Amino acid sequence: MKLSKKNLGDRLNHVYDVIIVGGGAGGLSAAIYLQRYRLSCLVVEKGRGRSFWMQDLRNYLGLPPDTPGRDLLQQGQDHALSLGADHLRGYVESVEDEGDTFAVKVKVGKADSVYPVFRSRYVIAASGIIDHLPHLENMQNVYDYAGYNLHVCMICDGYEMADKRCGLFVNSEGNINTAFVLNWFTPYITVFTQGLFEVSAEMRKKLRDHGYPLVELPIKRFLGHDHEMTGVELIDGSMVPLETGLVAMGSHYFNEYLQGLDLEWKGDNLVTDGMCRTSHPRIFALGDLKEGINQVAIAVADGALAATAIWREIRRASPPRRWEA
Ligand code: FAD
Ligand code: FAD
Ligand code: FAD
Repeated sequence: MKLSKKNLGDRLNHVYDVIIVGGGAGGLSAAIYLQRYRLSCLVVEKGRGRSFWMQDLRNYLGLPPDTPGRDLLQQGQDHALSLGADHLRGYVESVEDEGDTFAVKVKVGKADSVYPVFRSRYVIAASGIIDHLPHLENMQNVYDYAGYNLHVCMICDGYEMADKRCGLFVNSEGNINTAFVLNWFTPYITVFTQGLFEVSAEMRKKLRDHGYPLVELPIKRFLGHDHEMTGVELIDGSMVPLETGLVAMGSHYFNEYLQGLDLEWKGDNLVTDGMCRTSHPRIFALGDLKEGINQVAIAVADGALAATAIWREIRRASPPRRWEA
């Protein structure tokens, strides 16, 4: 059922088998599998996640390569609801381990918020990440192109950038190294630092040796029309024509709600076993938030693995059903 401020009270005394934090690709896949295993789950989704901004899902078997993430989300949500899953638009603020259950505190409504606490036996962390974008005074100018031909994922869109004039937008020296992977797809790379950090002499030489121009002046705005970026204008008024771009500025990880728990991390990613179980036996992690490659196909498969591991455990601990007349 779709939950909201109005009807969520009905669920406050229910202990779900699983609460899924994040209703993106991984979370919705887990919900579909869990419901089909006849377990009860609640998906909490804040909105505006990574799969929402994905304009085209270009490499997923069975779907046309111009399928927008929004369609995947809508279809997945309808599918999970049709199987009896609960779905709530809200932001998970904290998860507390109470022993046999977890207490999951959710903020519902950005204005006049309420803070219900739901309970479950297992938690699936499927909250993903969000890419940092160049920070310009007018962010709408960035949003006009980000996710279109200003890409954020080389695995997803390297093919789209092949042999094109590409701007690489970075915020640290480490991220400049992306150029030396991107050149598999295109060698026509211009690196933009916006003067955010000092570039070492060694890196300058490496870029020169590869023939990749380095632009350190801040960007005034992206140029283009109809979501098609055609270059950048720098603060001195000069223009750099481009055909495409890749933003490699790191990401924000949606893991704040897990901070009180004792979990194993690798950087900002959760470490899991082959079935997506974290170092906590009743917390699983899927997709972009866990270690591994950030792809829809992986997140969807992770959902199937985690749901199956949880089902096995609950089933084995349950009494057998007898055919009693
Ligand atoms: P997400 O789909 O990001 O889902 C996580 C969800 O959790 C989000 O919806 C978010 O709103 C929610 N959330 C976060 N924190 C909270 C909280 N505290 N409470 C409640 N909800 C929360 N992949 C491909 O395979 N092919 C592509 O072509 C492709 N193109 C892409 C293009 C763009 C522009 C972007 C940004 C990504 C692209 N990706 C592509 C990557 C793909 O979107 C991700 O790998 C995939 O969505 C990961 O699934 P996930 O479930 O881990 O995370
Ligand atoms: P969030 O990280 O979503 O949440 C921040 C806070 O808001 C949370 O702490 C929580 O308290 C609260 N909150 C969020 N959702 C809820 C909820 N449902 N109920 C209660 N509380 C909630 N941004 C745009 O605005 N327009 C764009 O066109 C756009 N395009 C993008 C394209 C790409 C490829 C990428 C990577 C990003 C894009 N973004 C865009 C930016 C990105 O989505 C930002 O992270 C987002 O705008 C931030 O939203 P937010 O402030 O709600 O932050
Ligand atoms: P396959 O899809 O079987 O592909 C392997 C291919 O290799 C076959 O086409 C075979 O012909 C070919 N091949 C084998 N040997 C050779 C050779 N020596 N030379 C050349 N070709 C060869 N899964 C789900 O997720 N959901 C479902 O609802 C579901 N329902 C199913 C219903 C049925 C009736 C069946 C049979 C399976 C179902 N499955 C379902 C399981 C699913 O089909 C498999 O898990 C999936 O197809 C595995 O993919 P695969 O690529 O490993 O193998």
